[in-house]
Amino acid sequence: MANDGITRRGLIQAGGGIAATAALAGSTLAQTGGAPRVEGKPLPGGVKLPASPPQRKRPDSVGIAIVGLGGYALNQMMPRFKNAERAHIAAIVSGNPAKLKQVGDAYGVPADARYSYDRFDAIARDRRIDAVYVVLPTALHADWVVRAFAAGKHVLCEKPMALTSADCERMIAAGRRANCKLMLAYRSHFEPFNLEAMRLMKEKAVGTIRLLRTEQSYRMGPTTAAENWRVDGTLAGGGPLEDYGIYGLQSALYLTGEMPERISAEAFRPAGDPRFASIFAHVSSQWKFPSGAVAQLVTSYDSAGINMAEVRGTEGALIMDPATSYAGQKMRIEGRNAREFNPGDPDVQFARQLDHFADAIRDNKPIRTGGDMGLRDIRLIEAIYASAKAGRSVNLNPDGTMRR
Ligand code: NDP
Repeated sequence: MANDGITRRGLIQAGGGIAATAALAGSTLAQTGGAPRVEGKPLPGGVKLPASPPQRKRPDSVGIAIVGLGGYALNQMMPRFKNAERAHIAAIVSGNPAKLKQVGDAYGVPADARYSYDRFDAIARDRRIDAVYVVLPTALHADWVVRAFAAGKHVLCEKPMALTSADCERMIAAGRRANCKLMLAYRSHFEPFNLEAMRLMKEKAVGTIRLLRTEQSYRMGPTTAAENWRVDGTLAGGGPLEDYGIYGLQSALYLTGEMPERISAEAFRPAGDPRFASIFAHVSSQWKFPSGAVAQLVTSYDSAGINMAEVRGTEGALIMDPATSYAGQKMRIEGRNAREFNPGDPDVQFARQLDHFADAIRDNKPIRTGGDMGLRDIRLIEAIYASAKAGRSVNLNPDGTMRR
């Protein structure tokens, strides 16, 4: 597979196998020389704190402790709690005391429900907290999810679940021991365009699926691992695939309804670019499904922006562009059932995800995006890196583990 200069030779010459090798070995620590640890950061740019705190709407509303007050928590999820029917912000956890106060005041979080990382374990005695939402850099997910379970709380964990399948298994086991729920924050499973796309593909609206293509890319500005955890392999693993390409990986699975049986992949990082000192710049993979359908997934931190998914069947094509954004989704079918779709406002994905989690906790309902799904996806990411590193395709079992 030659891909605009993304070759195995390039990967090897640039030493690009390091992140993949380390990720496969269960550790990326060699790259920056330290165990990943929590660190408070400044208030991100562009944050608009609420003028008045959101109110809980129901007596049985689930109280959630937000762990990590970063860009996604403050710009996307926390403001959307006001739209949730059955979940509210009960506590916040941060390594930055000034931010704890500022955000706590704005969201009406009582002073004694604002925790530092050092005091986190005391949440076990805080009956206002039913669940923990882990919104930390990826390498920190596993330990903080396990600690939340040890405190007897349910957990909503951001994507990707962890850097290794071993960590995912550790998280799932901790949840079982605690008899608590574990949900992955895969918001597209609650977003009207993606739900409609899943329904259409089940109905064979494009006939039998033959080809699928996903692209999740943007061009990252100049940065270093010291400034941005997303380019620090210790915290981010291989980089764009775990962070952004995972949306394409998910789409490939929920649009086909199949697991791949074989994957071949390429991963590349250029020499001498501080952005890619310990992560890849691009990862591309080709999947073969048991039905014979094939998928091409590409993701990049160094090419012009796109977020699309395209399914081509025997009778038409489904085109989603943008496919999995926070807003502005567009979707159409070409061919026999040609039409544009507008099934609803993508903004509901955030609150519906919270309410789904709350319903699972209060009504003991099954979780649509549970730990097993997170584990499955990390197994596929491991297979992609294993293929890129070995320079040959890898065969998979139906659960995503690699066949020896
Ligand atoms: P940010 O860098 O904006 O924030 C991360 C926060 O984590 C920091 O502000 C800090 O909070 C805390 N933190 C603790 N230790 C560290 C450390 N060593 N280095 C950096 N931050 C640390 O990241 P995002 O908010 O963008 O991402 C957080 C998580 O959310 C990731 O898992 C990411 O994949 C996921 N995400 C999901 C999205 C989605 O659409 N579902 C979109 C974007 C991100 P504090 O200062 O309060 O301690």
